[in-house]
Amino acid sequence: MSELSFRDLDLSDEILKALDKMGATRPTTVQQLAIPLLMKDECLIAKAPTGTGKTFAFSIPILEYLDLSSKDIQALILCPTRELALQIASEMKKLARYINGFNVVAVIGGQSIKLQAERIAKHPQVVVATPGRLLDLYEKRIIDIRRIYTLVLDEADEMLRMGFIKSVQDIIKITPKDKQMALFSATMPREILNITWSFMQGAKEIDVMPKEEDRPKIDEYMLEVAQKDKASAIVKLMRSNGFGKAIVFCNTKSTTSEIFEKLKLEGFKCGCLQGDMGQGARNRMMDSFHKGKFDMLVATDVVARGIDVDDVDAVFNYDIPKDNEFYLHRIGRTARAGKTGKAYSLVSYLDRPRMEEIIGYTGANPTTIELE
Ligand code: ADP
Ligand code: MG
Repeated sequence: MSELSFRDLDLSDEILKALDKMGATRPTTVQQLAIPLLMKDECLIAKAPTGTGKTFAFSIPILEYLDLSSKDIQALILCPTRELALQIASEMKKLARYINGFNVVAVIGGQSIKLQAERIAKHPQVVVATPGRLLDLYEKRIIDIRRIYTLVLDEADEMLRMGFIKSVQDIIKITPKDKQMALFSATMPREILNITWSFMQGAKEIDVMPKEEDRPKIDEYMLEVAQKDKASAIVKLMRSNGFGKAIVFCNTKSTTSEIFEKLKLEGFKCGCLQGDMGQGARNRMMDSFHKGKFDMLVATDVVARGIDVDDVDAVFNYDIPKDNEFYLHRIGRTARAGKTGKAYSLVSYLDRPRMEEIIGYTGANPTTIELE
């Protein structure tokens, strides 16, 4: 199956050329399974682990079926965070670079409603949105989603975790009954199954197991270190391994600022990212990190999900995450798309029980290392 190329999937020359330009020649497993079903207008429930290429899996069929002459919004993609919405919109623009007249808009909280209204007035065919803001704009009659053709719920479990599930249900009810619906989720908790039972009867199901070749190649390490020595341990690891780009995860805003300052003093070019920064500042920060202007990004878990930054060499857990799943999301920021990466957890005496829980839950098997 892995010998399949995108050329075998009946795609248009415009998409094939764009994929080629993006360096993608072979579809991942979820793409091989989902693209043909979605192109046949099937509804789809897809369980697939993070980093397996879900964005292309739903974006390509949408782009293949757009009616560029219509002024209606034809596809709506719901996702849990602003960063992810911007990222999906940007990936779609790249995929559509040879499709004249394609227009996608991200509808996200924290940005001016006026600006978004102006963009929506230009008749995008595709809208990528976080649920809260989308409902807000619908209620203000700024956006009309009553004639969409395809609805995608990306990272459904995360939308649930962030308390968006009621908004998602409200949005589903506004959209046409006979639309195509595709749901992507890494896990299938009961609340997500409720949605599939209520709204997606007859949908095709795919369950992509983490396959060896799709699975990110992450070397996981664990380092026992006193709380006060964690920052200097990171500095040592950065220098001795010659890492170019790394993310340091902290549990709180105040730790994030503190570590950011410490690493800056050590001479690293650093950025910092946490939830109560303004959206403009968050976007600029992500953009600079994408462009390689920083060696290190110090962040809370706001960036741990879905965000895809190329060439992250290492992830450091300065704090051990409070939530087991967060561990996977954090370390998944490295080793994207078949590359290899390293993840280090800095474990103080007090962190030990938490780390053991994570190991039990995730089945991780981190190698214990020591610094001299
Ligand atoms: P997911 O949503 O499943 O977590 P993404 O869609 O964000 O994963 O894809 C992860 C990375 O893999 C992105 O950088 C994307 O451009 C890249 N990618 C996706 N599909 C392919 C492919 N078929 N070949 C090469 N790279 C790919
Ligand atoms: Mg994704």
